[in-house]
Order: sequence, then C-alpha cells, then structure tokens
Amino acid sequence: MQAPTNVRHFPSRPSPLGPAAVLATLPERAPAALVWEACGAAGLIEGLYDRKGSVDPRRLAELLTAVDARGDNGVTLSVLVQAASALPVLAAGAPADGPVREALGRVRSGTQTLALAATDSAAAGSDLAGLQTEVVIGPDEIVLRGGKRWITTACTAPWFLVLARHRPGRHFTSFTWVLVPADAPGVRVTPADTDLLTGAATGHVEFTDVRLTPDHVVGRPGRGMVAFAQHMGTERLAGALWAVALTSRVLTDTQERLTRRHVDGLPLWHNSSVRQRYAACLVQVRQLHALCDGLGDRIARHQDLAAAALLKSAVGLVVDPVLAVCAQLQGADGLSRDGAQRVRSEAAVFGIGGGVTELVLDTVADHAQSILAELRA
Ligand SMILES: Cc1cc2nc3c(=O)[nH]c(=O)nc-3n(C[C@H](O)[C@H](O)[C@H](O)COP(=O)(O)OP(=O)(O)OC[C@H]3O[C@@H](n4cnc5c(N)ncnc54)[C@H](O)[C@@H]3O)c2cc1C
Repeated sequence: MQAPTNVRHFPSRPSPLGPAAVLATLPERAPAALVWEACGAAGLIEGLYDRKGSVDPRRLAELLTAVDARGDNGVTLSVLVQAASALPVLAAGAPADGPVREALGRVRSGTQTLALAATDSAAAGSDLAGLQTEVVIGPDEIVLRGGKRWITTACTAPWFLVLARHRPGRHFTSFTWVLVPADAPGVRVTPADTDLLTGAATGHVEFTDVRLTPDHVVGRPGRGMVAFAQHMGTERLAGALWAVALTSRVLTDTQERLTRRHVDGLPLWHNSSVRQRYAACLVQVRQLHALCDGLGDRIARHQDLAAAALLKSAVGLVVDPVLAVCAQLQGADGLSRDGAQRVRSEAAVFGIGGGVTELVLDTVADHAQSILAELRA
C-alpha cells in the first residue's frame, strides 16, 4: 500500500479551457481516437495524474462528465479504460527509454490510443488467474501466444497492453504485462459482434507466435498481477464517476420529457407516483455521488481496494434500476434509436466490465468487519 502524503504535485492545467470547452470544438460524432487526441493535445490526459501516477478524482470526474455529455457511451468507455487503467499500468512499468517509453509518450499526448487486454479467450473473465495467454521470455526475444476477448478500442488502437503468464500456475507472481504493436506479425483482431457501445471499437484479439524484442515487457516479469491490482481501483473510481454523469444526464432528459408530456391536462411530472419513483432514483444517484466523494481520495491516493470494491458494487446496484425507471418513464420514446432503453442496455457494462458485480460484492463481504467498524466509529 502506498504511503499517504498530503503533498500533491499535479501539473498545472496546460489548457485554460476545461474538458467541456475542449471537446466542444469536435464534430458531433467524433470517434474515440479523435476525442482522445483532443484531450491529449490540451493536456487533459497528462493533467489527470500526479508525479506518483495517482489520478486526481476531481479532474477525472470533469473529464468523464464532459466526454459523457457527448452522448456516445462507447467513446466514453474507450476514454475511461485508457485514462484510468491502460495508461496508469503502462506508466508504472515504463523504463527510461525504449518502445514502452515511446508508446507512453504518444498515448499520453493523445496521438495514439492503447487497448488493455486482460480478459482471456481461454478462461472466464471472473477468473483472471486462470488466463492462458503465455509469454516466453528469452534473452533476445519474447514470444506471445493466446487470445483476449471483449477488448475496448481493440479495433482501432495501434498498441495492446497484454496480461500474459510467463509460467504455469495461479500464483500472482506468474503474470507479466507485454506491449504489443497491433501491426506485429501474428496479431489478428476481430470486431465483437454487437450493436452496443459501437464507439468503443470493441474486439477480440488473437496472438499467434508474436515475436518481439524483450524491451516490450512492461515492468518486471512477475509483477503483472500486482500492477493490475494497484491500478484497478482507479478504473473502478472512474466507472463510478461516469455512472454518476450518465445517470444524471438521463435523469435530466427524463424530467424534461415528463414536464412536457401531459395527461388529462397536467404534466406527468405532477403525477405523485411518477415524482416518487423519479425522486427515489435521484436519491440513489446522490448516494453514489456521495460515495465517490467520500472514497475517491482513498482509492486514487491510497489504493484502497476495499473502498474500490464498495464503490463498484454500488454502481452495479444503482445504475440498472435507475435507468430502468427512466426508460419506463419515457414511454415509447424510450425505444427510439439511441433512446433510454438503448442507454440502459449499454450501461450493462457497469455490472460486467472490469469485474462483475457479484465478484466485487464478495470482496465487500470479505471486508464486512472493517466497513462496520467505520460505520460505528
Ligand atoms: C463492453 C465491454 C468492454 C470490455 N472491455 C475490456 C477491456 O478493455 N479489457 C479487458 O481485459 N476486458 C474487457 N472486457 C471484459 C470484461 O472485463 C469481462 O467481461 C468481465 O471481467 C466478466 O467476464 P466474463 O464476461 O467472462 O463473464 P464470466 O466471468 O463468464 O461471468 C458470467 C456471469 O457469471 C456470474 N458470475 C461470475 N463470477 C461470479 C461469482 N464469483 N459469483 C457469482 N456470480 C458470478 C455473473 O453474473 C457474470 O456476469 C469488456 C467487456 C465488455 C462487455
């Protein structure tokens, strides 16, 4: 666990414009790579992290809220995974020079994108230690074999950050990150067969005897799982911040519609049952917001994984019921293209990506004593 520190060293924001103003210059349907490029060029990506690589929850919230406001959930997912997971893991394992350092510079400045490939073709995503993608590390070359499924940005990213095993067994020291150029011989990408979150360019990746120089290993061999665990909290925090932005956006839209829609001469917004259901959603989202506020620093600065599991569980429990009520309250219009019913389907990723809700609830149960002790303190 990282030692707490009261001194923070975030670079001053290079762009005087906030994320919303930067993104306002882009075309309406700008793809993820263009959004990433604009954020990078304005210094919004680099400005997320302090010198130790910890993310600033407030800046992360601002960025994700601005990206979410564009209404393309796939693009937001792509930005989120890169900013909160792929980039921090790459930065933590980058040496002073070589291909990993070069890729880090390009991704951080927004000129290139990076996909994080952990979920394996040969094992359930909930069984990370069972992954079978292997890397053979020799003195002159490394060889990668295996496959990854449901990887965000896979169809467009020039780089993959791949979690592989360098020895058999489930022990946490058996895993290593490898940086793989998407155009290396032996890399094959297939788009995921889905109409949801299309802006995320999600795909499956096969690695058939991919040969690279050893300086493509990211961090020390055997540190892969530890590095992943250390940064997992940041992705979970980012997911919660996005969940607040997205549910607030849909709630706003829903309230506007309820105000405009009349039944028997009165706006639906004045119907008491409608108001109470809506208000219950508002309470849940406000609670999620409060949890983000209360746990954000603990997760980002102190890598508190129990707090991260608590937050991700809350997201899993809140987002779907809130969006289900919103979609229902929008009536038939909820079924329109890119309507609330579609948003609800896409938001299923909150309960699946980066750890299913059941798995994080297990972690919360593991920490029941300390959570209760805090509540009673
Ligand atoms: C849109 C999208 C983008 C993604 N992007 C990435 C990415 O960029 N990089 C990456 O590496 N991966 C990515 N993933 C993969 C994601 O991390 C996995 O889908 C996730 O870890 C779950 O794994 P799985 O789909 O194999 O489900 P499984 O592990 O097969 O689980 C299936 C279901 O079983 C139940 N279940 C599983 N475990 C338990 C348990 N312990 N207790 C009770 N019930 C349980 C849950 O209901 C779960 O939904 C993405 C997935 C999606 C959908």
